[in-house]
This record gives sequence, C-alpha cells and structure tokens, in this order.
Amino acid sequence: MIPDDVISQIRDAADIIQVIGQHVQLRKAGRNWKGLCPFHGEKTPSFNVSPDKGFFHCFGCQKHGDVFTFVMELEGKSFVEAAEQLAGRFGIAVPRIEESPELRKARGERVAMLELNKLATTFYREVLADPKRGEAGRAYLAKRGVKDEIADRFQLGYAPSDWGALADYLKTQRADLELAVKVGLLAPRPKSGGYYDRNRDRLVCPVIVPGGDVVGFSSRVVGAAAPSPDGSEPPKYINSPESAVYKKSKLLFGLAQAREAMAVTKRVVLVEGNFDVITLHQAGFTDVVAPLGTALTPEQINVLKRMAERVVLLYDGDKAGYKATMHALGLCVEADVEIQVASRPGNAKSGGSGPLSGGMDPDSLVAGGGADQLREAIDHAKGGVEYFAFEVWSKARGNVDARSRALEDAARLVAKVANPMKRDLIVATLADGLDVDVGVVRNAIARVADHRPGLGREPMPSQRPAQYPNNSANAHPNAPGAGGGSGVGMAGAGDPQMAPAGSRLPSEEVEVISLLADHPSLIATPEADKAFWLLTDARLRDMYSAARAGQSLHELAAAAGQISPPIAVHVLSGKYADSKDPRGDLVAMTRNLEVRKSEVGLAELKKSLASAQKRGDRDMARRLAQLAEAERKGDRELVARIRSSLEIGLETGEAEISSNGKQVD
Ligand SMILES: [Zn+2]
Repeated sequence: MIPDDVISQIRDAADIIQVIGQHVQLRKAGRNWKGLCPFHGEKTPSFNVSPDKGFFHCFGCQKHGDVFTFVMELEGKSFVEAAEQLAGRFGIAVPRIEESPELRKARGERVAMLELNKLATTFYREVLADPKRGEAGRAYLAKRGVKDEIADRFQLGYAPSDWGALADYLKTQRADLELAVKVGLLAPRPKSGGYYDRNRDRLVCPVIVPGGDVVGFSSRVVGAAAPSPDGSEPPKYINSPESAVYKKSKLLFGLAQAREAMAVTKRVVLVEGNFDVITLHQAGFTDVVAPLGTALTPEQINVLKRMAERVVLLYDGDKAGYKATMHALGLCVEADVEIQVASRPGNAKSGGSGPLSGGMDPDSLVAGGGADQLREAIDHAKGGVEYFAFEVWSKARGNVDARSRALEDAARLVAKVANPMKRDLIVATLADGLDVDVGVVRNAIARVADHRPGLGREPMPSQRPAQYPNNSANAHPNAPGAGGGSGVGMAGAGDPQMAPAGSRLPSEEVEVISLLADHPSLIATPEADKAFWLLTDARLRDMYSAARAGQSLHELAAAAGQISPPIAVHVLSGKYADSKDPRGDLVAMTRNLEVRKSEVGLAELKKSLASAQKRGDRDMARRLAQLAEAERKGDRELVARIRSSLEIGLETGEAEISSNGKQVD
C-alpha cells in the first residue's frame, strides 16, 4: 500500500531517538542511548537505542527492531499505520489510496475506534466554539478561568444537550454507530430507539496518549445536569468504558501534554482530578497528570517510572486524600520509585481548602501568590517516609489513637521495602522523626507484617513442624559440635518441636537468637537484620528488636524463661560462644531460613492457586501461576510486581474514586 521508496524515505527522516524518547526516558551512553525497557518491567536500564544503526535492542527481554517496529509494538499499530504516523510526523508525503469501507474494517476495530474518538473530539470542539450551542461549556470554562489556549491544548469540547446530535454527526461521517456504542460514545435509547450521546450536556476532556491518539473521554456536568434516560440522578463524571483502546488502569490524564515538561524536570506531579491538571498547566506547572478516576495502579506507576525519575504526590488534605496518598506511597515503594509528598499550601490554615480545592481559578492562583507557594511546596516535597515522620505525626501529636494509626500506616509502608539496607535507613529516619525508639518502629513493622492479607507469607504456627523438619543441625555447619553446652536441655521437654501447640518455637529461629546472644557484636549488622526479617515468631522478633535497641539477649531470654522455658534454655546455653566464625554461622542460618520461607510460600501459593482454579477465577489462577514460577526462579523483582498487582486486585479492586466523591476539582 505504501511504495518501498517512500518507506525508505520515512525511515531516513524519522528520528528514532525522538520517537522512542516520547515513551522512554533515554540517556546518552557513548554513541548509543539507554533507558528502562518499555516492553518488560525492569529497574536497571537494559534497553538500548542506536541512532546510527536506527534500531533498538533490549538485553533484558531481547526485543529489538527499527523505528517502525517500535511504534507497531508499543502502540499496537499495523505496519501501514505506523508508517503513516511517522510520515505525518516527519513531513513525508505518502501517496494514499482512497479507502473503501471494507478496507477500513479490515484495518481493525482498534483503528476504527480511534478514528471514531477523533471524529467525536472534532465534533465536541466545534460545538464548544459555537456561540449558541457551546454557551454552557464556555460559561463553565470562564468560571474556572480556563483560557482558550489551554482549552485547545487539552482539546476540550462540549457535548450538547440534544440527545441525538453526536449520532447524527457520526452518521454524516458514515461511521459505524454500533462501534461507537462499543467505544462508549453512544448508548442505545431505551424507549425511542436509536442512540444518544453518553456525554451529553457535559464538558468533555479527551484522554490523549503520547503519540496523539484520543483513546477515550472523561466528561463532567457543567450546570444543572440533564437526567439519565432512566430518570436517575446523573453522575458528576463519566469516563469511557474499558475497550480495545481504553485501558483505564494504564492511562493517565494529561500525560501527552505533560510528557515534554517531564523530560526536563525528570519528575511527575500527581493530582487527583482532571481539572487540577488543567488548572495547574495553565498556572505554569506542566509536569502534572492525574489517574483517571481510579485508585492509582501499579501499571500507571510503571508508565510514569519510564518517563520520570520521581513522583510527587499533590493530593487533597482530607481523609480520602490521605488514604489515596497512603495507597500511592505503598505502590511507589513496592515499585522502587522515588516518591515525595507535597503539602498543599493553605491546607493547614483553612482546613483543607488549598488553592486547588473548591474551584480556585489559575489566574487568582498566580496573582494571589498561590502559585509561588505551590512551586515551593512541590520543589521541597518531602520523601514519602519523612512525610509520615513530620506531617502526619505532628498532626497526631497528643492523640494516642492517631499516633498509633500513623505508626501503623508507616510500618505498613516500610514492610514493603524489599532492600534490607534501605529499610534499615528508613526505620532509623522514622524513629528519629517520630521521636520513638527504633524497637518501637520495628515491632510495629513486625506486627503489620503478621497481619498482611494475601498469600500467606506468614504461616500459621501449627503448620510449621510438618513443613519444616528440624534440620537445624545442618543449618550451621561451622558451629562447634558437642563442645559447648548444646546437649543441655536439647533433649526432653526443652525441644521446641515438642512444645505444646500454640507456643511452638521454630528451632532454626531460636538458633539465630542463641548465636546472637553469644555474639552481640553481630546485632544490628546487615547480616543480623536480614535474619530478623525472616523470623516468623513474634516473640523472637521482639527479642531481636529489644536487643537492637541495646538490651542484652541473655537477660531477655532469662526474662522470657519465666513464660517460655525453651527460649531461656537455648539462648542461655552458650553453645555458640566458642564459634570460630559466628558471622559465617549467621549467614548459613539465614540462608536456611530463606529456603524454608520460600518453601512455605510456595506451598501456600499452590493452595491459593488450587482454590482459584476451583472458583474458576482464571485471571487469578494465571497470575498465581506466574508468581509461583517467578518464586521458583528467584526473580525477586517480578515476584514483588506480581504480589503488588495481586494485592491491588484483592484489597482495593479498581474502585472508582469518583463514586465516593474523590475526583473533585
Ligand atoms: Zn526489555
């Protein structure tokens, strides 16, 4: 369909760095450019682009190709579509053959849907520009202080109140109205037949992806809204339904408009509502985006991670905003994305009515000095954990319930940090900022880790003996044999495996504490902390936390002896006192704990998988199987990613924020 020489012309003219740079943040590395691969999740860049050779290659997932392949793969386009897009962008004329309706159909539903959205965007914009029909929409924009230039940038439009106007327009364009229903533009009219405009009598914000395609719409009521066809109260916001082109869990409002600024500032500012995005862009903050009426998803974080180095959250200061902030913090920590939280200026003084809430317009924001305050707030946003330490805690001061809630939230966050060193630093920062002992923070983390729902990382104590045979003898090959006092108390009632149900102590874990009791210099080393995170017994974890805070394990064990003799017997035995390589012992024990943990994790996973299959939840079963495979291979990055996506699915679902009044602007 496109002559070969034209293809070559396009290939020569298309700047592969510019095209790929639209989706991936690229850095120069010698003659080539590097970035995070958009085709597979990764933390260190293995995606390379060679402008000289005109191709890309990923050493992680082996994906490679030229500029056409990239557009085809990433934007789901056919070769001809990719070529046409690139030709348009780099000014190459493509001789076009007039398309028949059959040919258009053959090009696929996806393209037809994008075409429909483009037509609708044109229609809505024309209506907005019409002095009479677009009056309500323009009045609303005037009220919000949105300038024409910004309305154009976001391609804002207005859907007129007459039921059939869009359908009539689409008919004149010979569009497929059934497909318009599928893409969410039209809906069948229940009584009179025909179709009506789902967005009618609303201001329409097209959702545009980098590359320029309109994949869907988010529309809001502008005055006294017309009732729904069934007479019910209309929702304030309507977003496009899921379709071949609109995947809301991956989309962000404003991304196409913010992309360039993000490449410069290396950051992205996340706000809650679409109009926050528009208002801030007009006020000069152009690296701002919003999730589309849903709770933030791991997929959205992945998109942002490729394009920016850090995420700054600028959410409302109310209760729902706090919850959304917590949720976003958790996702970013899990995805290892740098995250900061900016406080909206004015929130503290005026009880939640910052410059962006309640319809403050951008002009007054700039004129009233609010923009400067906001810039200050964004530029000096605090790290996610410091946010807790200084903001939340200071608000909770004097209120015991609020303090313990804040600590629990922070602990839940820290429990997600995979890197033990990083976690250690955060624990220290938190303890410092919260003005509590490190042990208090550690205990809080241990407690929330105990109560984490999901895949049974924490086995029930009663399952332990069956699943981990007492192989502690193999756990520390360097430990002295019968030399120490190890025989004392090991036989008879002192054996933890023989202890009555409910108070059983995992023997491998007791060994770790015993070793540390005899070699206190190992406490608080990265090796010991690593072992700590693998302890499943809360009593032993508490002992370690206390020891880390300076208490003697021997004394702690003696005290515990009153309630639980086995701890005292083992820990006070001094069996590791003569060890030649206590650090080596500790590493070996830790390795043993890791093996055991993954065995238990796998067993739990198999159970969840079987029950998902039984319920017929194929999606869950597929993801659990992926997780099991990743666990088996020891791919920790993948494991973390799947676990986080599973938890979103299990805990929050894809709750529409707008339904609880959150997508406010
Ligand atoms: Zn890759």
